[in-house]
Amino acid sequence: MDNYQKRIEISKKALVEAEFILIGAGAGLSAAAGITYSGKRFTDNFGPFIVKYGFTDLYSSSFYPFGTEEEKWAYWAKHISLNRYEIGATKLYEDLVELVANKKYFIISTNVESQFEKAGFPSEKVFQIQGDYGYLQCEKGCHDKLYENESLVTTMINKTSRCQIPSNLVPRCPICGGPMDVNLRKNAFFVQDESWHASDNRYKKFLQESIGKKIVYIELGVGFNTPGIIRYPFERMTYHNERATLIRLNKDHPECFEENRGKTISFTEDMQQVVTGFM
Ligand SMILES: [Zn+2]
Repeated sequence: MDNYQKRIEISKKALVEAEFILIGAGAGLSAAAGITYSGKRFTDNFGPFIVKYGFTDLYSSSFYPFGTEEEKWAYWAKHISLNRYEIGATKLYEDLVELVANKKYFIISTNVESQFEKAGFPSEKVFQIQGDYGYLQCEKGCHDKLYENESLVTTMINKTSRCQIPSNLVPRCPICGGPMDVNLRKNAFFVQDESWHASDNRYKKFLQESIGKKIVYIELGVGFNTPGIIRYPFERMTYHNERATLIRLNKDHPECFEENRGKTISFTEDMQQVVTGFM
């Protein structure tokens, strides 16, 4: 389907007729909403860190093995603050609220900036499966509790000097006394607390209820970093449900499984433009 307007019309019809809508969101959605991890937004905010460590973007820098906790938290405080606290709701996410407003819907997202909640989606409709910038956890995951970090992050930033925070601000696990970490799934120690499991259950219930129903899967900016979470399950569910439609917005990887070709509508065009086109 090459004709853009035709793809928009077919998508709109599928969305109007759908009983269920499942949104799957990846990094490409946040990038399209303006939360970019490289370029000017990165260089404007991380100047001293770029000079000190040679960082090139916010994604690779988040894997940097800092030598001390004081350095680690100076960097992470800025990273968390920029992406979680300094930015408000963005238009693209707000438009998605409007798009699904009158439907039975659910959202699974690998993004960790809480943009869906900021845009007005109720938190019980959103499963942030890979964590949340807004919380700390024990680095070794010794217990399943998360700790809100907003005021600590603000203090860390105010007290940062030469890319380090003062030692007395370094957070320590209240149970084992070890270092703390951001609640992001980057290794085997990722903490899934009670709230994570409740979201997981709501997601599974939604999938159960929508089996065989008229459903549209909208996949937004999901690449191949962790395809087993959204991309492959969406393809599989589309394949197994003859009433399903898969709408894929992906500038780099619009392709779909051969078997789903007749049920998939792909867009490589500007994501904001396409979402506006659906409304
Ligand atoms: Zn611990």
